[in-house]
Amino acid sequence: MLDAYGRKIEYIRVSLTDRCNLRCRYCMPAEGVEWHEPESVLSYEEILKVLEAASRLGLKKVRITGGEPLVRKGVVDFVRRVKAIPGIEDIALSTNGIKLAMMAKDLKEAGINRVNISLDTLKSDRYKYVTRYGSLDDVFRGIDRALELGLEPVKINAVIMKGFNDDEWAEWLDLVREKPIHVRFIELMPLGESHPWAKDAYLPFSEMIEGIKEYVELISGGRPEGAGPAAYYTFLGAKGSIGFIHALSNHFCGDCNRIRLTATGEIHPCLASLDAVDIKGALRNGEDIEAVLAKAILLKPEEHHMELYTGEEKDKRMFKMGG
Ligand code: SAM
Ligand code: SF4
Repeated sequence: MLDAYGRKIEYIRVSLTDRCNLRCRYCMPAEGVEWHEPESVLSYEEILKVLEAASRLGLKKVRITGGEPLVRKGVVDFVRRVKAIPGIEDIALSTNGIKLAMMAKDLKEAGINRVNISLDTLKSDRYKYVTRYGSLDDVFRGIDRALELGLEPVKINAVIMKGFNDDEWAEWLDLVREKPIHVRFIELMPLGESHPWAKDAYLPFSEMIEGIKEYVELISGGRPEGAGPAAYYTFLGAKGSIGFIHALSNHFCGDCNRIRLTATGEIHPCLASLDAVDIKGALRNGEDIEAVLAKAILLKPEEHHMELYTGEEKDKRMFKMGG
């Protein structure tokens, strides 16, 4: 299905829940989150109906995300049912990795092809600080298990924040020498909790790459399979690659091929536009799901203007939207 600007929309990110077993400081407050009421959350059957309609419109790739998708009960069986939808060629998972070691084998057998794991720092004390609860050892167990099982390419998402974790380039490069993983450094976005301090902590791609070039000579390439439109590099001795998701300093809207389904049944055609289309109502009233999806796809804007966010965009929080 083509959008209004001729982009082929082939990819849907599905948020299973807004709940999470961590509270990353840039994503969620420590407490006081207004969680979705259970009846407002789509059942697995409802999500499957949306995915069946999406596949009829030509969508081929599904990413399962959240919140933390692995905290929703029944996720393995859900993946198995997604895998059985004709036309769905690729199922990926975004996770914080805490429960991954324990669940990876079942997830792989159910149909997950590859994983993205969030990990912002390689220092235990910093990891505990930024996630408020997490243990770095759990995440590394998850990464190693994913590699063992061939849930590849294994990608790591690291949000880089000035003054917090912008001094770990040598450690990241060592990790990419040691393991065949693809580490993507992400510009902090002015969404959710990060909003009040995102300006000060924001480190543009250009400064990240300058920092890294002090340690290695980067060679363009090393783009992993299924990679989105990030810039990828490798270097001598690397088993994996590094990449940059510069959604703010140099957005890649021209190549964007995705839409998002939230846990409460809204289709967001763009992470950063305020348009959303309610699909839950259509599901629960027996209306035409394909027509709602097509409408949402046609609402996809040509490009985003996240830099103009004021902090009032309460629905545009990564853990509500499906990051
Ligand atoms: N819980 C899973 C995880 O952490 O991978 C999936 C959902 S999480 C919302 C998806 C991604 O959004 C994570 O990689 C996280 O770092 C990123 N994220 C959340 N808030 C962000 C922000 N303000 N700026 C940049 N990335 C953000
Ligand atoms: Fe949870 Fe992921 Fe948000 Fe961290 S980034 S609080 S792991 S949803």
